[in-house]
Amino acid sequence: MSSTWHILGAGSLGSLWACRLARAGKAVRLILRDKQRLSSYQGAGKLTLFEQDKTQHYAIPAETFDAQGPIHRLLVACKAYDAAPAVARLAARLANGAELVLLQNGLGSQDEVADQVPHARCIFASSTEGAFREADWQVRFAGHGFNWLGDPTNPNVPSWFADLHDAGIPAQWSLDIPTRLWRKLALNCAINPLTVLHDCQNGGLLGHLAEVDQLCDELADLLRRCGQPEAAHDLHEEVQRVILATAANYSSMYQDVRHGRRTEVHYLLGHACRTANRHDLAVPALERLQRRLVDNLQARGLRSD
Ligand code: NAP
Repeated sequence: MSSTWHILGAGSLGSLWACRLARAGKAVRLILRDKQRLSSYQGAGKLTLFEQDKTQHYAIPAETFDAQGPIHRLLVACKAYDAAPAVARLAARLANGAELVLLQNGLGSQDEVADQVPHARCIFASSTEGAFREADWQVRFAGHGFNWLGDPTNPNVPSWFADLHDAGIPAQWSLDIPTRLWRKLALNCAINPLTVLHDCQNGGLLGHLAEVDQLCDELADLLRRCGQPEAAHDLHEEVQRVILATAANYSSMYQDVRHGRRTEVHYLLGHACRTANRHDLAVPALERLQRRLVDNLQARGLRSD
């Protein structure tokens, strides 16, 4: 089985992973969306990684979807709403037993991807690392963090897991990855939409704690109802800790909106509201929040799905 890491989506996180794997001598290939993007990349000739005061270049080979050859290991680094359609275009190239690592934030996109590739193993990741694109093919490693990877259907650690350690990618194999993803989703729902609606940094929510608390109550109920009691534990306290610890930061949703980009709301607050609905759980504050957010995004001319 080939040990090449194919990376689908050379954006912020995809480039960060690609550069670190390449730096450790692992075989890496980028898969870009079309010929235009491939020729833009070939014009640059390399990915550039800015890390503190260091700048490093990595001439990683790239291809489009139409390239030949089987894929055994695929890091899916698109946004949640792009992941399943992009993987579907690659399905025919995925070898039997291929392994996919899904870096998407939120929940819902992982199952959409898995439905496209029943012959592959899907490994879910939850990342607290931070990166952003300074320009095409140039990424800044902005926040050190950690990665948890796990497979809800199979506890066995993949054979390539040591590659991550070799590449300096901090990671741990997790037997409770859905709990980690739900917890992160709940934190996101309690903080990010309100920062858009109140047009503030995370710390600005200290002036709206009653609203935050009401959301935490409903989110904790939802987590317990859908079999994630551990993710509900001390949720209020952690949300307040995160607001304080990141008071000067702008949330990822705030930044998407500010830059006129589509948000991942469908896989965050949208997923929470849909799941509550499926469990017949009333979540009026979350639903009101979703309606206000959708109105706000539409008023700015942004997609709200
Ligand atoms: P990003 O910078 O927007 O990168 C996404 C990349 O996917 C872009 O390069 C885009 O290509 C590519 N793409 C989209 N559709 C494609 C397709 N059909 N074929 C090939 N490439 C395609 O996004 P990101 O910030 O890395 O986020 C990726 C995921 O990681 C998100 O779910 C995010 O929530 C999660 N995450 C990100 C961070 C972070 O710090 N950035 C941290 C934790 C989690 P183009 O360049 O052609 O547009």
